Formats: sequence, structure tokens, C-alpha cells
Amino acid sequence: MENIIIIGSGPAAHTAAIYSGRAKLTPLIYEGLLAGGVAAGGQLTITTEVENYPGFPEGIQGPELMDKMRAQSIKCGARIKTITVNKVDLSKRPFIVSAEEERVEAKALIIATGATAKRLYITGEDRLWQKGMSACAVCDGALPLYRNKILIVVGGGDTAAEEASFLTKYASKVIVIHRRNTLRASKVMQDRLFQNKKIEIIWDSVVTEALGDNLLDGVKIKNIKTNQESRIEAGGLFYAIGHIPNTAFLEGQIELDETGYIKTKPGTTKTNIPGVFAAGDVQDKIYRQAITAAGTGCMAALEAEKFLSERH
Ligand code: FAD
Ligand code: NDP
Repeated sequence: MENIIIIGSGPAAHTAAIYSGRAKLTPLIYEGLLAGGVAAGGQLTITTEVENYPGFPEGIQGPELMDKMRAQSIKCGARIKTITVNKVDLSKRPFIVSAEEERVEAKALIIATGATAKRLYITGEDRLWQKGMSACAVCDGALPLYRNKILIVVGGGDTAAEEASFLTKYASKVIVIHRRNTLRASKVMQDRLFQNKKIEIIWDSVVTEALGDNLLDGVKIKNIKTNQESRIEAGGLFYAIGHIPNTAFLEGQIELDETGYIKTKPGTTKTNIPGVFAAGDVQDKIYRQAITAAGTGCMAALEAEKFLSERH
């Protein structure tokens, strides 16, 4: 029987592993094999430069940062299995974690399976992804590549509103393209958008193609009411069309919100099941940053350690 099983492989999982490893709990990590369509190491494996993770003043490549976190987990005593958890039984303790042919019991569980940013997969996207196209404006928007250019944000929710406002710091102009004629974003975020003179909104429209050879230089859009197509010159295309939390494998075992994120008790990583903790993007649809994922990974490990010490 394991003390702690950690499911996931991003900053939350590895921070939880470092803390619980140092607490001599010899955590077992299931890091997944292309789980949620993303390599072990999580979302940072699909990006280039990370400039906002403290400790790396020159920046660090996302995959390199995750390799370092993984090495640190092992150094602190974690064991890692590169397989995907496809089922859990949380109905009683010990919990049961099933991954491929394995069924392993655990006294405590930390779920840190993250979320996957939705993409449109339009023509040109394969060629230009991360070459002027991104699914995270807060992460990538400050890169020199995007400075003083026209930047496009797709989406009409709070993320689109927040990211469009954020990008005005770097862009010559930001254009929000939304498929309907009303925004989903909250009133306060909408007001912020409407009041910002650097932001234009194009309604009832979808992006159909990303243009450019090695770097995005424009997009094709289509008005879905009139079917009229047009081209816009742009140096950046940012998707803000939502994320999918990687919780399908939890199958009614734990309390989720209406969009599939794990519910945690405010200010903690505790779920509705004592002994099961959730950290990182799988329980956070607001901040979604490596450092906040790492922070909650730390919290989950400390809370799990306390939970185990009170019961044994
Ligand atoms: P994730 O990184 O989402 O990783 C979780 C991983 O767990 C999954 O990817 C998968 O490999 C694994 N997994 C999933 N399901 C299972 C399962 N059933 N069994 C086993 N394993 C499973 N943040 C920043 O702070 N700075 C940046 O510069 C930055 N750039 C970004 C660029 C891009 C393109 C993207 C998409 C995100 C970026 N982010 C950035 C956000 C950051 O990557 C995330 O906030 C962070 O990675 C979330 O960490 P996490 O630990 O919650 O899990
Ligand atoms: P949402 O699901 O709220 O919004 C996604 C947006 O993308 C919608 O406007 C949707 O259009 C559009 N969209 C989805 N799929 C497509 C597609 N295939 N093509 C074109 N457009 C598409 O996601 P968010 O990430 O914005 O927000 C998620 C949650 O996080 C929300 O609860 C939000 O309130 C919260 N949040 C809060 C913040 C804050 O308070 N500061 C900041 C960020 C997020 P349509 O409207 O037509 O469905």
C-alpha cells in the first residue's frame, strides 16, 4: 500500500512530490503517457520560453523546466511511472488507483492532472503554432515577437476579456473576434473591454485560417451571419476559448463544478473526500500559471502529510 499517490506531471504534481518526498512519504507519481493529449511534464512541454517562473532571470525553456522539476522529485524520493491513470475508486479508504493493468492502494491521493487549452485546429495552425499563435496570452504575450503588432484574441469569455486587456500593454492594437454578438464575459470584464481604446471587437465572426510562412502575419475570418470572408493583418493570434480539465477518469467519484473542474474548499486543496487533495489547473480556472500550480502542489502535500499523521 502506498502512502501517497500523485496523479499528474506538471508543476503541481512535482511540487507535491518534492514536499511529500522530503517528508519521507515516498510518493508514487503516475505521470501519464500523453494523457489529455499532452506529454508527461504537462502544459509547459508545449511552450518555449518561460519568463515568469521565479529563479530563472534569463528565462527557461518550458520542457527544460519540467525536466528539472522531474529530476528534483526523484532526488527527493519520488518514484515515477509513465502510465495514465484511467480509473479511481474513492468510495472508501484505502483508495484504489487503476492504471493500465495495475491496481494500487493508497492512503492519500493528490490529483494534479491539469487542464488542456482548447484549440481550433484551423488551416495553417500546425505550421504556425507557437510561431505567432498561442493559447496563453498571459504566458506568451510579453515575448518580443508580439511587440507593437496587431494581436487577435478569439473568444468572448472572461479569459478573452482579460487577455485582450493584458495584451494592450504590448500590442499596437488588439482585435477580439467573437462568434456571437454578445459576450459571455462578466459585466465588469466587458466594461473593461469596451472602455479600452486599443481594443476593437469583431462580432459574429470566426477565424478560418492562419496566414504566414514561418511566422503568423495575418488571419482569414468569416462573418457567420453574412458568410462574408476577409483578411486581417496581425502578428499574433491567441485562443481564449476555454480549457478542458483532465477529470474524465474521475467518473462521478468526486465533486466537480459544472465545467468539470474539481471543487476544493476555499483556501485549501481539500476535496469533498477526506484524504483526496487537488492541486494545479485541475482545480483552478482563474490563475492557471505554473507558479500557482506549484503553490497549490505544496499545499496539497502539506495537507496530505497532516491528514496521514492524524490517522496513523
Ligand atoms: P499541467 O501542466 O496541466 O499537467 C498535468 C499533466 O498531468 C497533463 O498534461 C498530463 O501529462 C498528466 N495527466 C493528465 N491526466 C492524467 C492521468 N489520468 N494520469 C496520469 N497523468 C495525467 N504558465 C506560466 O506560469 N508561465 C508560462 O510562461 C506559461 N506558458 C504557457 C504556455 C502554453 C502554451 C500553455 C498551454 C500554458 C502555459 N502556462 C504558463 C500555464 C502552465 O503551463 C499551467 O498553468 C501549468 O502547467 C499547470 O500545471 P499543472 O501542474 O496543473 O498541470
Ligand atoms: P468560457 O467557456 O467562459 O468562454 C469561452 C469563450 O470562447 C466563449 O465566449 C465561447 O463562445 C468561445 N468559444 C468556445 N469555443 C469556441 C470555438 N470553437 N470557436 C469560437 N469561439 C469559441 O471560458 P473562459 O476561459 O473565458 O472562462 C472559464 C471560467 O473561468 C469562467 O467561469 C470564467 O468566469 C472564469 N474566469 C474568470 C476570470 C476572472 O474572473 N478574472 C478570468 C478568467 C476566467 P460562446 O460565448 O459563443 O459560447
